[in-house]
Parts: sequence; structure tokens; C-alpha cells
Amino acid sequence: KEEKNLNFIEEIIEADLKSGKYEQIITRFPPEPNGYLHIGHASSICLNFGLTKTFPGYTNLRFDDTNPVTEDTEYVESIKNDIRWMGFEWKNELYASDYFDQLYAFALKFIHAGLAYVDDSTSEEIAALKGTPTEPGKDSPYRNRSVEENLALFEQMRNGEFPDGSRTLRAKIDMAHINMLMRDPILYRIKHAHHHRTGNKWCIYPMYDFAHGQSDSIETVTHSICTLEFAPHRELYDWLIAKLEIYPSHQYEFARRNLNYTVTSKRKLLQLVQDGHVNGWDDPRMPTISGMRRRGFTAASIRDFCDRIGVARRENMIDVGLLEFCVREDLNKKALRRMVVMDPLKVVITNFPEGVTEMCHSENNPEDISTGVRDIPFTREILIEKEDFMETPAKKYFRLAPGKMVRLKGAYIIQCETFVKDENGEITEVHCSYIENSKSGQDTTGINVKGTLHWVSAKHAVPVEIRLYDRLFSVENVSIEEGDFKDYINPESLEIITGYAEPALADTNAGDSFQFLRKGYFATDTDSTSEKPVFNRTVTLRDNWAK
Ligand code: ATP
Ligand code: MG
Ligand code: MG
Repeated sequence: KEEKNLNFIEEIIEADLKSGKYEQIITRFPPEPNGYLHIGHASSICLNFGLTKTFPGYTNLRFDDTNPVTEDTEYVESIKNDIRWMGFEWKNELYASDYFDQLYAFALKFIHAGLAYVDDSTSEEIAALKGTPTEPGKDSPYRNRSVEENLALFEQMRNGEFPDGSRTLRAKIDMAHINMLMRDPILYRIKHAHHHRTGNKWCIYPMYDFAHGQSDSIETVTHSICTLEFAPHRELYDWLIAKLEIYPSHQYEFARRNLNYTVTSKRKLLQLVQDGHVNGWDDPRMPTISGMRRRGFTAASIRDFCDRIGVARRENMIDVGLLEFCVREDLNKKALRRMVVMDPLKVVITNFPEGVTEMCHSENNPEDISTGVRDIPFTREILIEKEDFMETPAKKYFRLAPGKMVRLKGAYIIQCETFVKDENGEITEVHCSYIENSKSGQDTTGINVKGTLHWVSAKHAVPVEIRLYDRLFSVENVSIEEGDFKDYINPESLEIITGYAEPALADTNAGDSFQFLRKGYFATDTDSTSEKPVFNRTVTLRDNWAK
């Protein structure tokens, strides 16, 4: 078995299994269905599902759907789709809302035990008595209600007799507790709202703290992994489980993953969608799993990225360059090579007959010979990139220039004879001759050329739309900037151009990935049709950002 450095959570689990505390582990991935999953969630998915691939046990998918207002079944579907695409499968599909009856019964148990009370205070009044980290809070005037009165009021809350925000159910712990979250935390609030699964059955909803740990316990989750900001909640998590005397799940925290030049908060991503800064949650500029998929990122490259960043105890900012490195690594192995000219210049091969098409061949992927070769038509008129010709070449310019020779990828060596300029002095045409017997693979000329250019036959070129993406934000760390985060959106995050593609790109399927020679990796977009092919640039070939 391959030696692997265990992260701190894996070390805990390994010790728990060795000591016999558990025979198998149960983890869960608990998204709130209030948005699409993003790259931060990908890291949590890889961690939770990865643990039960390494160790015996299984992972549940649990929708943390206790807030009726922001949740929607559209999000549920997208989340399931994204997890599967990432290559993971859950054991059980569960919903915290399925436990509403059970949670209500837990609340009654607390009231009976004198550990919970109905508070008639407004949220402002509750906040006013909460105290500060250095000063104790004060007891609510409703704190010492009798069990009978609390039971009656809680039932009235449930029956919809009170308006939103007029009452809460609170745990009776200690208003002087050093952990502010232990100062009589709210367990239930009134919300007359339709829930995406329970409809109008409930008008009281459990708070995160009263739902999450109890759901973990109901499912006998052994290791409940969440992000660092929940560390202060652990004490309450343990207290609630202990008082209810239910299965003791345990919470562990790891640092959130933040990526530079973007935002990873569903609330902010939702704003970008709602305000039309991007075209939907799956816009290829979004750091969502669906956006990255549409852009051409592979699941393997995202898993590799999550693996490389690992699991940390401290928050830090991860360079998007690492994600791009991972996708280049993967696509280099998988993507078929194609030629596309993005800024065309006509080249006439003067010694090649008019009206003739000769088939040339080139490998689909030199990294994987099993992908074979493809046909590329060669004709008298071809297109190359404007930047691949210079009237007066700079030193070490190995591309085309008067008198110079280059190889056309998969085809012949050509030599430049002359060129044509229009009245504005712009070069409109280059004239070359091709060298016989210099065809790729059968070159018997003995001529050595330094430069190889990509090209397409002018007659066979397929116009395609190409969407070039750049960073969505123009600052590295959006969260520390002053003012509205939307002020830092990169106005040039999308540029649309027309490219001229070799015929093999005329008919491709959404999600197919290609390396456009010398240009980068591109994926067929979901908008693509055979009438109008559309490609997204996934990533350039080399990191040319800020260099
Ligand atoms: P957001 O702030 O984007 O809404 P969230 O934490 O509220 O994120 P949830 O749906 O509650 O979103 O998250 C599901 C799981 O994914 C949680 O366990 C959460 O800790 C984890 N998670 C969310 N964002 C990140 C992140 N940036 N890095 C690592 N894990 C994350
Ligand atoms: Mg959340
Ligand atoms: Mg959140």
C-alpha cells in the first residue's frame, strides 16, 4: 500500500479505529440547499467522502434544510448532480426536515426537564441581555416559567397562534457562561413560511444548533466535520446530546478553503447571479462546481486540487494558479489536439495547385497514442495567426518572415517568398512555397526548421465562437476590500471572439475538451450547436497571469 501522510482528521480516525472506539466510521456532507455548490464545498466533499474511501464506513448526504425561506428543490437537484459528477456516491439521501417531528419531541423533552423555556422577548431584547465576552448576560424575565406554562405556549407556537419573531424557545443553560453561545441559546423560532419539503406543516423551525447535532446523532454519524467558525458551537453540540442522552456524535473542525480572485460564499454568488453580473450559477467564470464543469474543468482535476491543498487547521488563501495547474495536468493527458486560428492571416501556397485538397494527418494526442490520428485538409490557401508572421523579424523569431521556413503542423515545410500590403500598410496576404517531400512523418528533405505553426485550410475552416475568460475579480482577496464586493468585479472577465477551426471541430458535444495547439485548453459549451459551435477557454497553456 502506498505511503500517505495522514491529515489531522485521518489521524484522529485511525486512532479511533485502532482503539476499538468504532468499527466503522460514518461521515456526512451537509449542504444547505440555498445555492449551488462551490469550490469550497468541493473540498468538504472530498474530505467527507474521501475519509470513508480510506477507512471502513460510509458517507451520507444530508440536506440541512431547516431554513424554509432561502431553500429550494432546484438547489437540491443541482447539489446531487454535482456530487455525483465529482465522482462520489452517498449511502443515504437524508433531510434534516425529515426529523422535524423528532426534533419537536426533543424540545418537549427539554421543557419537561426544565431545560427550556418560551421567551416572549423580541430579538433586540434578547440581544440586550446577552452580555459581552467579558461581561455576563442577564436572565430573561420569562426564564422561570413553569413547565406547564412552557408546554402550553410552545404548543400555541406550533399551532400558529403567534406572529413571526414574537416568541422563541430557549435552552436554559447559564446567562453568565463564558461561551456566549451557551447563554440560553435559541432552539426554535416562529416562521410562517412554506418549506420546500414540509409545505405548511410547520410554522416553527429549529435553529442550526438544535438541528445539526441532533441530526448527526439520529444518523449515528461518528465524525461530524465542519468549518472552523463552528468551533465555539461544539460545546453546545455536546451539551444538547448529553442532556438528551442520545448517540454521541462528535464534531471536528477544519479551515475553510478560500480561493483568490473570487468569492466563495453562496450569498455573494447569489447576488452575482441575481444582479446579472454573470449568466447564471453555471457561468464558466463562477467558482461553482457547475460553472467549473461548464468551463471544462474535469472532476479529476478538482479532486487533485482538493487533495493537494489538503486539510488545515488555519484559514488561508489558495492561489487559483494551483487549480489551473491541476487542470492542465489532467487535460494534457486527456484532451484531443486540434488547430484553431484566432486572428487569421491568409497564406497562399503558390506552388500548390488550385482546387486540390490533400489530406494530412496528425495525432489526436501524443500523450495517448490509442487516440489515433485525424485527417486535416491542406489546400492552396490556408490561415495562420497574424502574430506568426513578421515583416522584419526580431532576433530568435522562429516563425514566418520573408525568406524564412517553418513547418505547418502535420503538413509541409513552407518558405515565405513575399507578402501583400493594403493601402493602410497592413499585411493582408503572405505568399509561400511548400517544400515537396517535407510532409510530417515522411520528411526526406533533411531540412531542419525551428518553428511549427498551427494553421487551417481557408476553404475548410469552420467559424466558431470562442469565449475567453479571465479572473472574475480584479483583486486577490475580495473579502478584505472596502465597500461593496461587486465594485471589484473584473470588467474584462469575458471576451468573445471568432476562431477558424479545422473541420474536426465542427461537431462536438458539450463538455468535450480539446487542446487548441499553442492556445490553451478549450471545452465545448452547453450553448454549442453544429450550426454554431461555441468553445470556452478552460485555461491557457502556461500561466501568463501578471507576468
Ligand atoms: P456558504 O458560506 O458558501 O453559504 P456554507 O458553509 O453556509 O457556505 P453549507 O451548505 O452549509 O454552506 O456547507 C456545506 C458543507 O460545506 C459544510 O460542512 C461547510 O462547512 C462546507 N463548506 C462550505 N464552504 C466551505 C469552504 N469554503 N471550504 C471548506 N468547506 C466549506
Ligand atoms: Mg450554511
Ligand atoms: Mg453560509
